[in-house]
Amino acid sequence: MKIRLAILLFTPSLLCAQPGWWSTEPIRWVQTNLREVDAAMDTRRLVTQLAEMRANVVLMGMGGITAYYPTRTEFHYPSPYLPAGRDMFGDVVKEAHARGIRVVGRYDLSKTQKAAYDAHPEWFFRKADGDAVVYNGLYSTCINGGYYRGQAMKILAEGLERYDVDGLFFNMFGNQSTDYSGAYVGLCHCDSCRTAYRTLFAREIPERADDDYRRFLLASSREVSETIGKLIRQKRPNAGYFNYMQEYTDGIMSESNTAVRRALPLWPYSASDNVNRALNSQPGKLPVNLNMQFVDYWWRFATVPRQEIALRMWQNMAHGGALTFEVNGTLDLQDRQAYETAKPIFQWAAANQQQYSGQRSAAGVLLLGGPSRGDAYRGIFRLLTEEHIPFAVSDNMEWQGKRPFDLVIATDWAPRGLQQYVEQGGHLLVASSRPPEFAIARVIATTPDVKGYLRVRNHAFFPSLADTDLLMLDGLGHSRSRWCRRP
Ligand SMILES: [Zn+2]
Repeated sequence: MKIRLAILLFTPSLLCAQPGWWSTEPIRWVQTNLREVDAAMDTRRLVTQLAEMRANVVLMGMGGITAYYPTRTEFHYPSPYLPAGRDMFGDVVKEAHARGIRVVGRYDLSKTQKAAYDAHPEWFFRKADGDAVVYNGLYSTCINGGYYRGQAMKILAEGLERYDVDGLFFNMFGNQSTDYSGAYVGLCHCDSCRTAYRTLFAREIPERADDDYRRFLLASSREVSETIGKLIRQKRPNAGYFNYMQEYTDGIMSESNTAVRRALPLWPYSASDNVNRALNSQPGKLPVNLNMQFVDYWWRFATVPRQEIALRMWQNMAHGGALTFEVNGTLDLQDRQAYETAKPIFQWAAANQQQYSGQRSAAGVLLLGGPSRGDAYRGIFRLLTEEHIPFAVSDNMEWQGKRPFDLVIATDWAPRGLQQYVEQGGHLLVASSRPPEFAIARVIATTPDVKGYLRVRNHAFFPSLADTDLLMLDGLGHSRSRWCRRP
């Protein structure tokens, strides 16, 4: 008996993206993380380079730590390199729009200058010992303080009223517990945070983040995210809203990046993983998996190998996400390898864009991606990819409904929500050492680890295994392996 699993990915109204340019056009997205000196750049040259590579969206510095236009809002500081009388950001908007390129303004509200700190110390992040967090002379703001909750909205309102932007993007949203050098700064102990935390949990902020604290910080970020979302809708109803939060936004942002000290092995399907998961967990939002060209924070101007850049681009596109490329500074790079790799792929995507509109997943397999994304998840992901079996990844468990699948694969755990599907004859493959949340099959034996074989008893079921009766088996998990068989 074959009963198809009915799945409708659940999106409460507050999570819903509004339809807009990001949902109707194939997107070729270039991000420039500008330096302060770039406030004096040749905007016509940048826009010409974007047009030549056939980008149709540019995400670039607008304000926050540094404004790229002559801002008049208090506690918002134009780049000292912005020439007198010049409006660099405004020039880009004008020139890019003239060539059919949309502009998404980038803000980083996580830090600002000492003058703001001196005037309003209560707006800022406080370490447990009461000290501010200072990095390269910039002071970290607190998501619960008056900068994020009030002043930042005035800064954003100015930008939105002044420029016909196509969207806004926010970097470093929420109080980061480490700085850009990886140093631990801990949790914010400012008066706003301490008062709010006491009201919620009747105790002091812990030394290290626990579950309560993580919920608190997420709720704080969501509140600010919602306020910003409403401001954008009010001031520029056709503009998109992008940050790393899933709620209230129009795109799901992620990154394919590297770090020198990150544990090996590299995950060659990071772009596929991020885009597939975004598209099938929050349908209706644009997956924007940023293709970070640099090796690590210390080497922002040295690129990862060309092949890595190209791989991420093709994966982004193949899974229905935006085609993306990110650089630091302008497109006049000292290491041009990544840019020269990206350019012909953008051009190819533009020449074939009619093939890349309105894509929908036709996957017959659903891979449930839990929080760990561990070896089992990546192993199955790789197996399905390299066997060319289309599959959808989702971490949105609040679903029930209408989308049919032939097989569900649960690698972290089998949630109770699958019980009805299994009882009605749906096909479920569990590859996890964690027991399912409901009884799936009779447990024949439980063992802490397995070094042995699987025996092929019926070769008719496994035609590719004609030449072996044994398969190597090296554990199903770290602690407990459960041998299950349908009764
Ligand atoms: Zn705080």
